[in-house]
Amino acid sequence: MARLANKVALITGAGSGIGQSSALLFAKEGARVVVNDLDAVKGEETVKMIRDAGGEAIFIGADVTKPEQVSAMVEEIKLEYGRIDVLFNNAGISGVGVLHEIEPEAWDRVINVNIRGVYLPSKFVIPLMIEQREGSIINMSSCIAEIGLAKRASYAATKGAVLALTKSMQVDYAAYNIRVNALLPGTILTPFVENYLRTSYDDPETAIASLKTRQLSGDLGRPHDVAQAALFLASDESKFMMGSPFYIDGGVTFG
Ligand code: NAD
Repeated sequence: MARLANKVALITGAGSGIGQSSALLFAKEGARVVVNDLDAVKGEETVKMIRDAGGEAIFIGADVTKPEQVSAMVEEIKLEYGRIDVLFNNAGISGVGVLHEIEPEAWDRVINVNIRGVYLPSKFVIPLMIEQREGSIINMSSCIAEIGLAKRASYAATKGAVLALTKSMQVDYAAYNIRVNALLPGTILTPFVENYLRTSYDDPETAIASLKTRQLSGDLGRPHDVAQAALFLASDESKFMMGSPFYIDGGVTFG
C-alpha cells in the first residue's frame, strides 16, 4: 500500500526545491497534495509534474505571512477535501549578513517568512486536525539551529526559533494525536542555496567546494534527500516521533 494513501497533504513553498521534490514524492506515495507557493507559475508547474506522473494535486496561491490569504487557503482545502492530514511548513527565505550590517527591513522580512510562515498555516490548520484527532506537522528548521555558520544571523535566529516552536507545539497538541517534528537539513543544492552562493561569494564554485569539505559525506544534499525524510515524518511509520529534530545533513552537524 502507498505510504500516504488517503492522506491530504499541504506543502507550503512547493513551487521549488525541497517543497517541490516533497510534493512529487508525497503524490507518488498516494497523497492528494495541495501545492502552495507565492509564485503561481512555479506552483502550477509542480502540479503539472505531479499530474503528468499520474498523481493528484491542486495549486493554491497564498503568502504564508498573510493571515487572510492563509485562512482562505485552508477554507478552500476544507471545501475540496474536507481534511488535512499533513502540513509541511516548508516555505522559507534566506538571510545573509553579519548582524550589525543587516537593515531592519531585511531582518523583519526573514523573521516574517520563516517564523510567521510556520505560525500562520499551523494556526489555521490545527483546529481541523484537532477535530480529526489526527495530524502530522513538519516544520522546516535547519542544521544552522545547532551550528554556527558565518554571516547568517537573521536566518539562524529563525531556524532556532522554529526548532523551539516545534517542541512547544508538540507538547500542546500531543493530546489531540497531532505530531509535530522538525527537519534540520544541511546544505541542499536548491535554487535557494544557489542564490545565496551567488549573492554572497565572488566565486560560487570555490564556495561549494569548501562547503563540501565541511560534510562528512563529502558532498552536498539534494532535494530528494530531504523529501524522503519529510515522507517518513508525514507517514504513520514515524508515529513514535514527537517533537523530534530530524537531521538530514551529510554529517555536518555532528562531524
Ligand atoms: P527554494 O527557494 O528553492 O524554495 C522555497 C519556495 O518557497 C519558493 O518556491 C518560494 O517562492 C516559496 N516562498 C517564499 N516565500 C513564500 C511565502 N511568503 N509564501 C509562500 N511561499 C513562499 O528553497 P529550498 O532550498 O527548497 O528551501 C525550502 C526550505 O528549506 C526553506 O525553509 C529553507 O530555509 C529550508 N532549508 C533549506 C536548506 C538548503 O540548503 N536548501 C537547508 C536547510 C533548510
